[in-house]
Parts: sequence; C-alpha cells; structure tokens
Amino acid sequence: MIDETELKKLGREFGIDVIRIAQARSFTTLAKIIPAQKKKGLYLDSDYLSNIDVERFCNIQVRFPWAKSIIIGALGYLTSEEIPLNENGPYGIIARYTWRNYYLELKKRLKRLAQVIKKESRAKCRIFSNGSIPEKPLARKSGVGYYGKNGIIINKEFGSWMVFGEIVTDLKLTPDTELEIDCGDCDKCIAACPTGAIIKPYIIDNTRCIQALSGWYGPIPDRIAKVWGNRLYGCTTCQDVCPKNRDVKPQPPKSDIGYVGPGLPLLKILDIEEDEYRRKYPKNQITASWIDFRAIKRNALIGISNTKDNRFLPVLKKFTNHPDPVIAQTAHWAINNLNNG
Ligand code: SF4
Ligand code: SF4
Repeated sequence: MIDETELKKLGREFGIDVIRIAQARSFTTLAKIIPAQKKKGLYLDSDYLSNIDVERFCNIQVRFPWAKSIIIGALGYLTSEEIPLNENGPYGIIARYTWRNYYLELKKRLKRLAQVIKKESRAKCRIFSNGSIPEKPLARKSGVGYYGKNGIIINKEFGSWMVFGEIVTDLKLTPDTELEIDCGDCDKCIAACPTGAIIKPYIIDNTRCIQALSGWYGPIPDRIAKVWGNRLYGCTTCQDVCPKNRDVKPQPPKSDIGYVGPGLPLLKILDIEEDEYRRKYPKNQITASWIDFRAIKRNALIGISNTKDNRFLPVLKKFTNHPDPVIAQTAHWAINNLNNG
C-alpha cells in the first residue's frame, strides 16, 4: 500500500514540482460564492463557472461517491527563454502560461503516478488538469499556495507561475494543511490592472478582465480596448507586478506540447482561416474547443489598432464589411482609435 511520503517522493521523481493532498470534501463556501458572484454579474456568459451545476462542481463526491482523497500536483512554468518578437511584427502577445500546454504535460506525469497508485494499492483514480474541479480552492486547502489578491494561487517557490492537476482517488491519505500566509498590505496587482478588474481584494470582475475577455466572443468596450495593448490571448499584468513572483527562479522548458511561444504575428492571424489556425497550433489553449476563433481575430484587430501605426489602416478597412458583426464593429473602432492616436 503506497503512503503519502512515498507518493510525494514518486511524484517529484516523475517531475511534478509540488504535490500535496486534500480530503475529498465539499467546498460549501464556494458553493455559496459562485451563485452570488454570478448574480452580481461578475462572470461572462461563456465563463465556465457561469454554466455549471454548482453542487456537482463543489462536491467531488457527487460524481465520485467513492472519492476519499485528492492529490494536487503543480508544474511551475516560468522559463528562462529569450523572447524574440522583433521580426514579422507587429506581434500579439500570448500569456506566458499558454506558450505551451503544461496542463497536458502535467496530466501525463500524474497518469504515471496514478498507474503506480493503482498497481500498489488497487485504488481507483481519476485524473484532471484544467478540468471541471475546483483547482484553486484545492490548491489552497492543501497548502500548495495561498490566494493572492488577484485571485491567483501563490506558491513560495514558484510564485503564481503554476498550472494545477489532480488525482481523485479512493485511497485514504493524510491531508496536508493550509498555509497561514496572505498578501499583507500589498496592493500592487490591484493598482496595476489596466481595466480595474480586481474590484476588491480577491474579487475579479470577469466582464472587465482581459484574461477572461480574450477568449470570449463579443464587442470589447472602448475603455477596455484602448488599454488592451497588443495582447492576442490572455493577460498576466497582475502577475508580472507581483513581488512574490520577483525571486522565482526560471527553469528550462519542461515540455514542448502545444508550443506557440510568446507571440504570433497579428497580420497573419487576420489572414488565417479557422481550419488552418486550429491545424497550425494544435494542443494549445489558444485552439481549445471553448475558445471562439472570432475572439482571436477581434483581439488581433485591437492589437493592430493600438500600434497607432497608419500603415495598417488599409488592413483594418478590409474588415469593416466583414459578415461577422463583432469583427466589423471592432474594425470600425480600430480605425477610429488609430486615427485618434
Ligand atoms: S489578468 Fe489582466 S485584466 Fe485580468 S485582473 Fe489581471 S491584470 Fe487585470
Ligand atoms: S501583487 Fe501584492 S496583493 Fe497582488 S497578489 Fe501579489 S502580493 Fe498579493
């Protein structure tokens, strides 16, 4: 029978950076917070939390009545790579966690661990990563890290540059304890957020958050599009400024699954058809089934407009008669924004 100590040792041998354990219990507070935040209008209509069965999501035993423990694994993704974005620009920035698909890599590593657990303990195991499970509450509960005021989990060694994965099992394991740490007086992320999306410590308004909006299909309000910069997918400003990330040691890449890198040329994105886009960047989050391709095109128009470079006016004009209303509307906004630069 495998125990906690052996399991954690094996996990590290399989390349999982952090590995902790939580009891398979219901998150009753979370089950109240999700509907309350939805009622306040803090979620986008496409947000995962906006469309879930709350009880099923918050209580793992609804789906897996046999579940006793959840093993939480994390991979740090801060790398030491150069960011060569100078040629074929302008580039649209991809958030660091999406340069490659560490979720799939972590799932692979967790699978190896689950195989050993099954073999040695004849235990049931279900594996998740970026899946339908309360990842951040589990990471906090098990002491992987604590909540930053930007709503992201912070680990002492890897900062907030981490992805999570989980093994739900019927193995009875001793749970780890929560960390007794918080952000203290710091409010750098709140001050740095370009859209004011961190409306209170720990509370994010997704209808203003560029990270959430970048995969959502719809028109971006002027006040947000103007400060959007050249982000093609995601936003990490509230992580970039976090002092807890300052001393995190970058590591060599752990995987190249789904690699797209730190940016993609915006003009190419405007040119490309959806089929080719999905073929060209397989297994990355930017081509995940829940990401609307029209949102990516819209982001490219905003990014080009924010260069304030008149040479791109003819390109933007081509999209003003686009059959998709959001693309056409964004192209009109983009021309106006560029002209008024
Ligand atoms: S991801 Fe960007 S927009 Fe969203 S809260 Fe952080 S800084 Fe603000
Ligand atoms: S920037 Fe400051 S307040 Fe925000 S998450 Fe980091 S430590 Fe916490």
